[in-house]
Amino acid sequence: MAGEPQADCLFCKIVQGEVPATVVRETRTTVAFRDINPQAPTHVLVIPRVHYSDALSLASAEPAVAADVLREAGEVAAQEKVDATGYRIVFNTGPGAGQTVFHAHAHVLGGRDLQRLV
Ligand code: AMP
Ligand code: ZN
Repeated sequence: MAGEPQADCLFCKIVQGEVPATVVRETRTTVAFRDINPQAPTHVLVIPRVHYSDALSLASAEPAVAADVLREAGEVAAQEKVDATGYRIVFNTGPGAGQTVFHAHAHVLGGRDLQRLV
């Protein structure tokens, strides 16, 4: 069923506590944890507890939870004290854009000069 945990999904396993992660924030609908291969001094992933393959699938099926992910990304930035200097929220979508884990997630990057991308 849409949103149900997937047995072969790494991030579902993190939600269920079956794979360890350095969790920095949790809400009823989201979990935020440090990326294992950080690309910036602050590099945190914010994921919904429900399983959808990417941001669009999540936003289409459960828009309130997609909004929770975005709000939590901002809360992470504030907690990590990168909100004043600036941060980037990234949703890699599809293999050609670098998506490797097909459970929707926002990257929150900050703490260094982030080159303008677009
Ligand atoms: P993406 O490439 O956008 O799908 O992002 C997946 C991210 O998950 C990458 O930045 C990985 O470094 C990160 N990652 C993979 N495995 C883990 C893990 N066990 N704990 C934390 N982050 C992970
Ligand atoms: Zn999943």
